[in-house]
Amino acid sequence: MMSDTQRPARVRFAPSPTGFLHLGGLRTALFNWLYARHTGGQFILRIEDTDQKRYNPESLEDLKAGLRWLGLEWDEGPDKGGPYGPYIQSERQEIYAHYIEQLIAAGHAYRCYCTAEELDAMREEQKAKGLPQGYDRRHRFISADERAALEASGRPSVVRLAVPLEGTTVVNDLIRGDIEVENSTILDPVLFKSDGMPTYHFAVVVDDHLMEITHVIRGEEWISSAPLHKLLYEAFGWQMPVLVHLPVILDPSGKGKMSKRKVVVAGKEYLALVHEFMEAGYLPEAMFNFLTNVGWNYDPEQEVFTREQAIARFDVKDINPTSAALPYPKLEWLNGLYIREMDPAELQQRLAPFLAKQLGLDEAELRQSPRLAKLVPLVQERIKLLTEAWDKLDWAFVEADAIRYPDPTLLIGKGLDGAQAVSILRAGAALLRSVEPFETATLEAEFRAAAEAAGVKVGSYFAPFRVAITGRTVSPPLFESMEVLGRAETLARVENATAALQNHVGEKV
Ligand code: GLU
Repeated sequence: MMSDTQRPARVRFAPSPTGFLHLGGLRTALFNWLYARHTGGQFILRIEDTDQKRYNPESLEDLKAGLRWLGLEWDEGPDKGGPYGPYIQSERQEIYAHYIEQLIAAGHAYRCYCTAEELDAMREEQKAKGLPQGYDRRHRFISADERAALEASGRPSVVRLAVPLEGTTVVNDLIRGDIEVENSTILDPVLFKSDGMPTYHFAVVVDDHLMEITHVIRGEEWISSAPLHKLLYEAFGWQMPVLVHLPVILDPSGKGKMSKRKVVVAGKEYLALVHEFMEAGYLPEAMFNFLTNVGWNYDPEQEVFTREQAIARFDVKDINPTSAALPYPKLEWLNGLYIREMDPAELQQRLAPFLAKQLGLDEAELRQSPRLAKLVPLVQERIKLLTEAWDKLDWAFVEADAIRYPDPTLLIGKGLDGAQAVSILRAGAALLRSVEPFETATLEAEFRAAAEAAGVKVGSYFAPFRVAITGRTVSPPLFESMEVLGRAETLARVENATAALQNHVGEKV
């Protein structure tokens, strides 16, 4: 017999478009995708939008953008089509209508005509008598005449599953073992609503069957629905897919389930939504690596791995069912690592949209910019997020006059006074005019020699130039920055800074 690993799996990610994609949902999609790729099967995207009241029109685009960002391209689904479509449940109404009739005809389901008021009254009575609350199956055993009369009354109806009154239902979860439920506790749940839409339970079973899903890999919160789904598969006489319920992700404090919005714990912000991570400057490579290890483990000895390595090794049977909190610091660390190891030309492309937005520049120009190409290697080691580059590079994309020196004392190197700093800036300006070629190595050699000749420590000697050029005390490497700017721009900044400092120390020009 072939093992599951060798049989191509058909798996699905089946989000309800009710809100923005969060990290837990993305992890579910990722594990489905990994298993499809591992087995050479298909990854299907199915949109479960039968709950019209909770529908959020922004949600679908956000979902697709999040999946594509992580590189989880679906083989079948919206925008793609496929042999088992449509893949949006609201477009499958006729299919559900056909199957619900089939179930009614076979005696496994029945119409219930109770009004909301009747159901409320039923619950009140149960409460008063101290009985378990739920549907009392009152329309299940009515006579054909009673049924005909209710139907003729024009009352709206729902369709309920006729759950066996006795016995137990046992469902197996691949990583959790058997789950057993007394049938008597499942109170004929609604399969079809009066608005003509199926409930989640009915649609999910019909679709998983018709789409030939082999493995249902979904969040732990659905585990309590599994026995009901099993009863539905049995009523239809269909084979149930393998079930794998993924552990919930806990919030950073490790206490509750992770929130669907960002939270602040002990003064630190923890993001939750996928688009927030995208906007914060995380790389999909880092997120992929990180999320693959949430509930599964590539190798306890190896923290960093490629997509291909993960695909080769991933197996649903190795998923750990224990819930855990997200190790956020690891994600940041991984992100910095992937940034450092990225080809600088590629990093330029990734930084361009962020810098464009943060600095108000043109993205297409930044993608082509030779200046940015030279700067990227200078900041590559110093950023963990793509959003962290702008204040290290902003100085390079403005005119000399835009650099301001609101606190000219910053131009004075450690251990020096204002007059000394002015004369260092003047001597430096002279050097900048004459140095040939205007390149990092020659610039550095000349400035070092000048510092030595003046008997000033290099750190103190270089400091005024750093501030002159960038307006900041912390900047990318000084002489590389000068080379990027070129002679004229560098000189203009040094002259402006000199003037600002002179003004401050009150010296005459
Ligand atoms: N539509 C459900 C959700 O929003 C999918 C549950 C399942 O995968 O069966 O999570």
